[in-house]
Amino acid sequence: MRTGYAGVGMSDGQNSLGERDVVVVGGGVVGVASAYFLARRGARVSLLEQGELCAGASYGNAGWIFPSHSTPLPAPGVLRQSLRWLFDRESPLYVKPRPSLELARWLLAFLRASTEARARRTFALNRELSLASHELYAKLVPELGVEVGYRQLGLILACRTRRALETALAELAVLREFGGEGRRLGPEELLDFQPALAPGLAGGVYFPADAHVSPAEFVCALAAEAARLGVEVRTQTEVLRIERPGGSRSRVIATRGEFACDELVLAGGAWSPGLARQLGLRLPVQPAKGYSVTVRRPDGVGDVPVMLSEAKVGVTPLGPLLRFAGTLELAGLDLSIQQRRVDAILRAVCNYLPGLVPEGGIEELERVETWRGLRPLTPDDLPVIGRARALPGVVIATGHGMSGISQGPITGLLVAQLIAGGPSALDLAPFSPDRF
Ligand SMILES: Cc1cc2nc3c(=O)[nH]c(=O)nc-3n(C[C@H](O)[C@H](O)[C@H](O)COP(=O)(O)OP(=O)(O)OC[C@H]3O[C@@H](n4cnc5c(N)ncnc54)[C@H](O)[C@@H]3O)c2cc1C
Repeated sequence: MRTGYAGVGMSDGQNSLGERDVVVVGGGVVGVASAYFLARRGARVSLLEQGELCAGASYGNAGWIFPSHSTPLPAPGVLRQSLRWLFDRESPLYVKPRPSLELARWLLAFLRASTEARARRTFALNRELSLASHELYAKLVPELGVEVGYRQLGLILACRTRRALETALAELAVLREFGGEGRRLGPEELLDFQPALAPGLAGGVYFPADAHVSPAEFVCALAAEAARLGVEVRTQTEVLRIERPGGSRSRVIATRGEFACDELVLAGGAWSPGLARQLGLRLPVQPAKGYSVTVRRPDGVGDVPVMLSEAKVGVTPLGPLLRFAGTLELAGLDLSIQQRRVDAILRAVCNYLPGLVPEGGIEELERVETWRGLRPLTPDDLPVIGRARALPGVVIATGHGMSGISQGPITGLLVAQLIAGGPSALDLAPFSPDRF
């Protein structure tokens, strides 16, 4: 079931933004895609990033473009599941206990969003965003002219236990209701896709419509294309203060310069609430830390990404590399690496994929990088895309949680359409910053 995506082209209303100055804060997938689509419409865009491009969550994630996996985090049964997980430091979902009113409000809103009806609505909305974005990837990638590891090979979900398989099949039934495709796989068929998997797993599901990309390569290539279209990309430029001198204009004071603009796009990922607070807007976005370990790809690993179902670890082949990514930790704006959580990811890989583990253990795989990033997570698991009523001249684009790579391009297009004032590819009402 598709609800409203009108398939608006990437260049509709091109040049309609001539003479408008736009500042985009944040050089992750959302900020870069916004800058790109704004530049295509002729706006004068400055993209400000405190570190290097792709310094945040958009760098070392799993890179999945997965409209088939739109089941939201807040869903029926989450309370029972989370009580088992919440305070277990090695579980796929961990909340670091801390005295924070913001966190308490966020958790309450999360529980309120965990009803059947809300979960179905969120499923439909996130799926629609991801499907629309997927269409844009297919158009954008050939235009970039460089290899960004985009592959349309689908995804596999691999389950060790019958219980996980039953849950997966129930989710598949919901996906089919919404027009999605998936095929049940027996233990042997799993091995045909991914020979490194353990024999004797309960089974799995193949989702043929999903894709993956090397996320940092994609974001950097899109930023290069944006720069070619005239975007002024300013890295190592941290936004310190935002002033509103009157009307809808903003003045942005950064570590390297000051910028006046007609329109300001806040795409600061997990750091967005601090920026929004300066404008008097409360954004309930919690940093949700995840980790990845990237190794040189061993021989005999299939090309299709795999989700290790119970462990919630994603395994993505990225050309000569292989990435294991997962875990979700609500611990505030904390970028420390908790070794036990990295170890939990690697243990899951050993359990599900013994075929890629050398005799001496997984540590013998050539490690390229251990990484962590902060997903910007809203309590209803829907992104925030749009204007707040009280803030003319400001567009918020954040809160994409686990789906920012999937939904980055469509978010950029929607931001540009909103600022251009033309037709919108999707109804933005469900994503409004005023909904909280
Ligand atoms: C382990 C893991 C696996 C994931 N796997 C997937 C996946 O397979 N598929 C998927 O769709 N999503 C996935 N995600 C989620 C995805 O990575 C995020 O949703 C997405 O990257 C968010 O993009 P963003 O542009 O909003 O934020 P970010 O990429 O974090 O970008 C925000 C940028 O703003 C900059 N910034 C912040 N404050 C300031 C300031 N004051 N001045 C200037 N710049 C500032 C930051 O430095 C940062 O670069 C995963 C995430 C993790 C952690």
